[in-house]
Amino acid sequence: MSNLDRTPDLSVCGGRAGVATAPVHEVFAGREVLLGESTKVRRLLPNLGRRLVGPWCFVDHYGPDDIAAGPGMQVPPHPHMGLQTVSWLLSGEVHHRDSLGNDQLIHPGELGLMTSGHGIAHAEQSPVPHPALLHGVQLWVALPDQTREVSPGWSHHAALPRFADAGVTTTVIMGELAGAASPGQAYSPIVGADVALDPDADALLPLEPDFEHAVLTTLGTLDVDGVELTPGSMLYLGCGRRDLRLRSASGARILLLGGEPLGEQIVMWWNFVGRSSDEIAAAREQWMRGERFGAVAGGGDPLAAPPMPPGRLKPGGAVR
Ligand code: MN
Repeated sequence: MSNLDRTPDLSVCGGRAGVATAPVHEVFAGREVLLGESTKVRRLLPNLGRRLVGPWCFVDHYGPDDIAAGPGMQVPPHPHMGLQTVSWLLSGEVHHRDSLGNDQLIHPGELGLMTSGHGIAHAEQSPVPHPALLHGVQLWVALPDQTREVSPGWSHHAALPRFADAGVTTTVIMGELAGAASPGQAYSPIVGADVALDPDADALLPLEPDFEHAVLTTLGTLDVDGVELTPGSMLYLGCGRRDLRLRSASGARILLLGGEPLGEQIVMWWNFVGRSSDEIAAAREQWMRGERFGAVAGGGDPLAAPPMPPGRLKPGGAVR
């Protein structure tokens, strides 16, 4: 997934100053963004109130959309640096191709994990032919300063830890939950899990109290710690919770996202995570010159980077 906004903001975020160290309830509505010509997404992170949840720095939720008569997702080759992308599908298929030569069809329940590190380019498209329904999320994880220059890589995990109890089925996508660990390599303490609730489910999900957490609904309605949550919004929960009460009369499906607060200031612009606007500007120039990120075979013409906004931002503020 790419940020296809033609006037993306340059945003400085992170550090511990904004982290809610105690449990809170903050509901954020998603912002509708057109991705390419045909896919509408709800952007839940960054939002006006929160830029990071643990190391998670970008959350797009799309669908369920009927794409039987259309092209579906069409995101041409674009670059990333300083982050990992996490692809997770509830319905449909996405064809991933990257500048390392990886060519992978991603199905529901499988983790597509791309570590951009120093730099990579990829394209994401609905295959031809494709299933009628497309529904999923695209997530980014900011890499800590120590490891953000790692070599780029791609991994695909069809088998993830999955456990069911009391009408709740949990799949661990990233990090660790309830003693089960995802095979996806993470670079800071993190959790990402898909939780499916049967009708009339009432369950306690164990959490790591030092982590910051947020929940978004992908299907159905549920009650999260007393707050009703519907698809299209995200509930930020802060830190300091040992568990989370989930109840649903109708049945629902959620994503739990969390992790140790990043504790670093980052600069995000377009598809890049860096530490200074000069660094971001240099990466933009390299992409436009065809350097650094490599080329993607197939997937159409590379996406041109938008112009950078005027002015310069320096990371600042409280850092652990
Ligand atoms: Mn992308």
